[in-house]
Amino acid sequence: MITVSSLLDNEWYERYRKISKLNIRSSIYDVTNRCNLRCRGCFFFSSGEHKAAKEEMDILKWERFIEKEKDRGVNLAILIGGEPTLCLDRVEAFYKRLPTFCATNGLIKVPRDRFPDMMVGISLWGDEQDEKLLRGKDCFAISSKNYEGDEYTYYLYTITPRQIGKTERIIKKIRDIGVKVHMQLLSNDESVDGFSWRNEELTDIRFEMDEMLDHYPDTVISSRYYHKVITSGNMLDRDFGWLECPSVTETFDNRNPKPKRLIHFIRWASDLKTMHRCCTSETRDCTTCKDGAAHMSWVMVNKKAHIRTAEDLKNWIEVYEMFAKLYRFIPW
Ligand code: SF4
Ligand code: SF4
Repeated sequence: MITVSSLLDNEWYERYRKISKLNIRSSIYDVTNRCNLRCRGCFFFSSGEHKAAKEEMDILKWERFIEKEKDRGVNLAILIGGEPTLCLDRVEAFYKRLPTFCATNGLIKVPRDRFPDMMVGISLWGDEQDEKLLRGKDCFAISSKNYEGDEYTYYLYTITPRQIGKTERIIKKIRDIGVKVHMQLLSNDESVDGFSWRNEELTDIRFEMDEMLDHYPDTVISSRYYHKVITSGNMLDRDFGWLECPSVTETFDNRNPKPKRLIHFIRWASDLKTMHRCCTSETRDCTTCKDGAAHMSWVMVNKKAHIRTAEDLKNWIEVYEMFAKLYRFIPW
């Protein structure tokens, strides 16, 4: 029988042992329906999720809700929106109770005296031109000043098809302000002209992502296998999509047979009652989904399928380590 220990030498087995203890149980929370930007292609606004529920305004209700989430077994709260930094009291309610990750556009600085070690992920869409076109301003110019040298921050660099051949300059800019970067791909939910991926572009960007990881290993948090999976939508000869997606809210999951999935995962709307279908757009066609977190979770929940060859299992370990680093369950 093929076992984990039969496939790994001591060093890899030790890496495996460290992550296999983690038992991460995440859920996602819309902190608010409001944002200080309106990006073209924002999954939240383009799918109408901002209108799905009326925001809960009573902070005591947030606190009670978070306690219940903790009792449900959640040990990683991923805060999105809207823009969570518009409601720092709600962010603080999570931070005081649970390991918390806050996604933000970086225009407002999270005060570090109040949130000394909260993980912050700043969204960055392409380069200056892409950001002006898609988001209305060069957000990096502001967020980089707010977060320069912040050791609990990384950029979530959403690569657009126009970034092919240009990613190195962005990675260097991020390296130069002393923060880390993780890469994912734009899903182009509002069909902006010139921002949808063609197959040959996906092949090109995969190799460029590999190069960035090889050249900037101290800055880039990633793995080659993740690049392969996210650009091809394929893992162990299976195709990504609705039937395989791990990041579907538990109560929406009527799939039969049930695929491997995130245990007890829910994406909550800001009324603390309504749930959204999945970790991203309610209305996105799953065949076009390039969501980075969904792809990496897809690998992570399919451990058994990777206990096949040493290479497969090492690939799985690297993706799990990448996830654990991004949410600071293990050091960078
Ligand atoms: S900053 Fe984020 S939440 Fe706000 S509009 Fe842009 S993508 Fe949407
Ligand atoms: S849109 Fe993406 S994350 Fe949502 S269910 Fe479809 S594949 Fe999964």
